[in-house]
Amino acid sequence: MYTIMLFSAAYLFATFFLSPDLDVTCKSYRRWGILRLLWWPYKEIFKHRGLSHNPIIGPLTIVLNLAVIVSVLLMLGGIDLRSIPSGFIIASVAGMVLSMEVHIISDNVITKIKDII
Ligand SMILES: [Zn+2]
Repeated sequence: MYTIMLFSAAYLFATFFLSPDLDVTCKSYRRWGILRLLWWPYKEIFKHRGLSHNPIIGPLTIVLNLAVIVSVLLMLGGIDLRSIPSGFIIASVAGMVLSMEVHIISDNVITKIKDII
């Protein structure tokens, strides 16, 4: 039960804050407020709809970027990273990845439809 809630929360979080469109100044990027600085390197490295919209590399790099940010914040807060249960990490990463895959797939579908029209 707790896993499903965590998965859903991660899914929603990713939908609003971790869009693969972080490669441009998008709504998700603005929602980070001052913390958007943390995504600036990501935005500069990836061209829009390039690798960030690759179904494997996109979610992987976003999750890694977030992992770096979260680890630094936790360590600054004096929290031992090894104390986080692996189930917690798996459920939240799965939720975030699913959200990004949905985004990438719908971007691709929309592009294909536009090509046809
Ligand atoms: Zn997109």
